[in-house]
Amino acid sequence: MKYYSTNGRVSVVSLEEAVVKGLAGDKGLFMPEQIKRLDSKVIDGLKDKSFHGIACLVARSFFSEDVELEILDELVKDTLSFDTPVVPVSENCFSLELFHGPTLAFKDVGGRFMARLLGYFIRKRGLNDVNVLVATSGDTGSAVANGFLGVPGIRVFVLYPKGKVSPIQECQFTTLGQNIVALEIDGTFDDCQALVKNAFMDESLNKHLTLTSANSINVARFLPQSFYYFNAYAQLDRQGKAGELVVSVPSGNFGNITAGLFAARMGLPVKHFIAANNRNDVFLEYLKTGEYHSRSSVSTIANAMDVGDPSNFARILDLYKKAGNVHQAICNDISGYRYMDEEIAETMRKTYRETGYVLDPHGACGFQALLDYGLKEGETGVFLETAYPAKFKETVDRILNTDIVIPLKLQAFMKGVKQSVELGKDFQGFKQFLLTY
Ligand SMILES: *Cc1c(COP(=O)(O)O)cnc(C)c1O
Repeated sequence: MKYYSTNGRVSVVSLEEAVVKGLAGDKGLFMPEQIKRLDSKVIDGLKDKSFHGIACLVARSFFSEDVELEILDELVKDTLSFDTPVVPVSENCFSLELFHGPTLAFKDVGGRFMARLLGYFIRKRGLNDVNVLVATSGDTGSAVANGFLGVPGIRVFVLYPKGKVSPIQECQFTTLGQNIVALEIDGTFDDCQALVKNAFMDESLNKHLTLTSANSINVARFLPQSFYYFNAYAQLDRQGKAGELVVSVPSGNFGNITAGLFAARMGLPVKHFIAANNRNDVFLEYLKTGEYHSRSSVSTIANAMDVGDPSNFARILDLYKKAGNVHQAICNDISGYRYMDEEIAETMRKTYRETGYVLDPHGACGFQALLDYGLKEGETGVFLETAYPAKFKETVDRILNTDIVIPLKLQAFMKGVKQSVELGKDFQGFKQFLLTY
């Protein structure tokens, strides 16, 4: 299958090139030329399959022309060493728990799949020196670093803002060693992202080094996220509850919800999507006004969603480009909600008090949006619980007055020794560092 750029100013490329390059030459995002629709019999049969079986089916639909089936199935199996259960929280609302992977956030799925697929292409091409650059405000860095740990031929540079990620998050990518290099940048997350973007645009740097991105602009990271929408459907179908699904996605860069929209295009019966935001609400503004204006991000307690210019918005527009009225078509499929920190905290407290379920600040936005949307008779709500609450222990304990247990998986990271390189936020210094590393 070929991949085109959302900006449409470069020719189509192979999957291999889309994955190795990350971003298209015209700065657009890669999109698959086709989204194949699954037969309704196949959808009906999902309930009889395992998560692995479901994920293989979805993966084949995108990647089978480019990766041998046996290898692809193996990649999927390797990626999904954990489950994504749906757990009832209230009468007709379920939490889709995506946090049972190694770094306890949904990004493990895309991070691990991308690492394995890129590893496969590198072996095939005989490349041995690919550099993955990833800017992180916390969660992306850990999922990507853990996904790529020990993959031959690939080195990962994780850029993070000094003093601005939680200690638990920091230890998940600074203690790994091997092919993972943590760069502690004396600046903000935006500075980290700017360094990465400048690196991709710097001609002389790209002449010397093969650089790629592991943010959700990379198709290999965001497409596999469609697996768990199918898995959620299968689980609810087994309980006779999948008839009219409303799916709420806590959104930042909009990769996760875009993967859900892809699943729907493949024929997964989802009646409606909800994009739940924190104070960073440019998408909600778009739904209300039809105009999109990026902004600088503001800090919130749901910090993985502090994004003022969501990169996958370009993919959403592209999905609807054939509609007569693009804005109207998007509004028909997706609703938007926005929550201030105090509202997020209130949802967490109320839910804990009334149901005993501990929400993390991101999942809380998703759950509250389902409540505010107002499910009708016969509809089932699913919100994506994107991270394990203990990842945000200080915040969750403060709000709920709890002392939640840090799982062993996380404790293991916290015992490691921090290794990082401190760098300023000037591009020349960063470039020099990369060239001489
Ligand atoms: C990354 C992240 C999000 C936002 O996902 P996008 O795909 O960027 O919209 C939400 N919650 C958590 C915990 C995350 O790590």
